[in-house]
Amino acid sequence: MESLLLRRVACACIPIAITLTTACAQDDLRDGELPRSGWFAAPDVVQGRLQILVADMLDGSTGRIHRVVVDDTPIELVLPDGADTTGLAPRALVRAWGAQGDDAFEVDELEVLAPPPAPLIDADAFAPRSLATILVDWGDPLLSAEEANEKMYTGEGSTQQFFAEMSYGKETMAGDIFGPYSIAWPGGCDADAIAQYAINAMADAGENPSAYEQLMYVFPSAGCGWGGLAMLGSPQQPERDSWYNGSFDCVVRNQEVAHNYGLLHTHFYYGCSGGGPFGSSCSFEEYGSPYDPMGYGCGHMAAPQKHYMGWLEGCNIVTATSDGTFNLLPTEVPCDGTQALRLPTFDGRYYYLEYRTPIGFDSDHSGVLVHVSGGWDYYGPDPYLIDLGEGGFLAAGDSYSDPNGEVTFTVVEEHDTHAVIDVTFPGGGSGAPTCIDGGAPEEQAGVVGTLSCLGGPFQPDASPPTVAIVDPADGDVFAPGADFTISAEANDDIGVLSVALYVDGAIAETRTMPPWEWHVDDIPEGEYELQAIASDGINEAESAIVRIEVRPGGGDDGGDAGEAGDVGEAGDAADDDTADDGDDGDDGGLEDEDGALPPGYGLDGEAAGCGCRASDRTPPFVLLGFAAALLRTRSRRRTEARARA
Ligand SMILES: [Zn+2]
Repeated sequence: MESLLLRRVACACIPIAITLTTACAQDDLRDGELPRSGWFAAPDVVQGRLQILVADMLDGSTGRIHRVVVDDTPIELVLPDGADTTGLAPRALVRAWGAQGDDAFEVDELEVLAPPPAPLIDADAFAPRSLATILVDWGDPLLSAEEANEKMYTGEGSTQQFFAEMSYGKETMAGDIFGPYSIAWPGGCDADAIAQYAINAMADAGENPSAYEQLMYVFPSAGCGWGGLAMLGSPQQPERDSWYNGSFDCVVRNQEVAHNYGLLHTHFYYGCSGGGPFGSSCSFEEYGSPYDPMGYGCGHMAAPQKHYMGWLEGCNIVTATSDGTFNLLPTEVPCDGTQALRLPTFDGRYYYLEYRTPIGFDSDHSGVLVHVSGGWDYYGPDPYLIDLGEGGFLAAGDSYSDPNGEVTFTVVEEHDTHAVIDVTFPGGGSGAPTCIDGGAPEEQAGVVGTLSCLGGPFQPDASPPTVAIVDPADGDVFAPGADFTISAEANDDIGVLSVALYVDGAIAETRTMPPWEWHVDDIPEGEYELQAIASDGINEAESAIVRIEVRPGGGDDGGDAGEAGDVGEAGDAADDDTADDGDDGDDGGLEDEDGALPPGYGLDGEAAGCGCRASDRTPPFVLLGFAAALLRTRSRRRTEARARA
């Protein structure tokens, strides 16, 4: 058990500059009344899981908001001025002593009772991210669904493209756009109210907010002092919430989503008086890097940020402690060799050297950038760009020496494919260069590090998955009341994110992990069309349609039910969501031309081979675990996928 005793001391204050209205729970606790929850030992103690929010203020400052969640209600904590918060991790179990104020709980002492819970399963940091972008407004929306979809997924420079390139393909951003929904005026900058109204509106529209790991609330300016606000999480356990107050540009969009993964800002040292480019004599700009969305630009994230995220790994990160010559590969493309060269600083941190080349999101700059960064405990590191050359870039011939003489490095050569860095230590230093995983980097003709890279930046998954229904077979016949299992096979070069089963053109259920099977109970008499739609997070693929017949005496032969083909000839009911961006124009609008089937069974719905599904119908038989809520969502994604194909 770790104990942090925070005392009221007068010194530099933590910039907790904004107040979130946290609904009624704290009001309930005024007047010394004993709260009902067992979390409370006494009215002057609150205990629960810690939440940490990062507010990106419009004036260029930042604020950290600490809250403790009691009975699902967050209570804002006001920590003593100058409190050391470095040991406070999101989701840690904490107990705070103090007094309930008007808007927040004023903390005198805080104790960490338990560290954050470990992930329940062996988390795969690179499972596809699942985001719901929820547009809300109380008049005019900030963006149309189409505009939001372009910014998130389909447009040049989208968030999907951004994270794919940053992570060398390790991150897949998958998700959907919802709204714009009209919500009640939240009464001002009330982030919790906006979140709740957005979730309610999404649910009222028949969607399922809890199907998404991250929720992005996008709205016209609500008079907030911040442009963006996000809960701080970790790469393995992202926090859910982020808010966008009147802005959804590249920086705020990617920065707030990244805060959910625990990333902090990329700072910039300036105004140093001690003779060096960094250290305690310097000032720094919180959002100082113009090359990183964790600062104020939209280029690649700094190498320490990529290190924290696990995007750079193995011999992508090489630490040197003795003289040597190193190949430094471009930060923009997937490589086997060194993309971050770490060298010790005089104050116990590391220089992270990275080579920027004018490709992808870094199209307008090049040279060697140097950040200074320490490690991290719970959320991400604090990298500082240091100003060593024109725009911060070192060019061929430039050299730099640590203010305390720990190390000197020189950019010897700059090529399109790599830079060559010469490193010297006093007395030559000691120890061999090591990769971040403990391995040893390759050497080529006396230069450390392979030159092996892909020819360009990673592009998001371009090849769709394949999917087929393998059981039952087309034309199978069953007896009424039969029970059976529908099985599909799906494959993708990267990974299958989900497989949805459609029955007569209506979605029945989406599975997000294998086996891709659905059990059918007590099927009524009739003819049915089954189809599976697989998604890799970006592209979707449709299986061939399997037609089955259920009739008395069925189940003992393969039958001739395959002739029921004309159920598929009706038009495209399309998606009636007015916000939908991507209807592919195949709105046949054909009427019910075939009276052979009961209403709603395959008519007025889906043309065989057309991607647009009617999204508001219920499949004609019950599947275990039937989930209607994903319906419109899936329909939209399919439309997008086709538009991109
Ligand atoms: Zn921020």
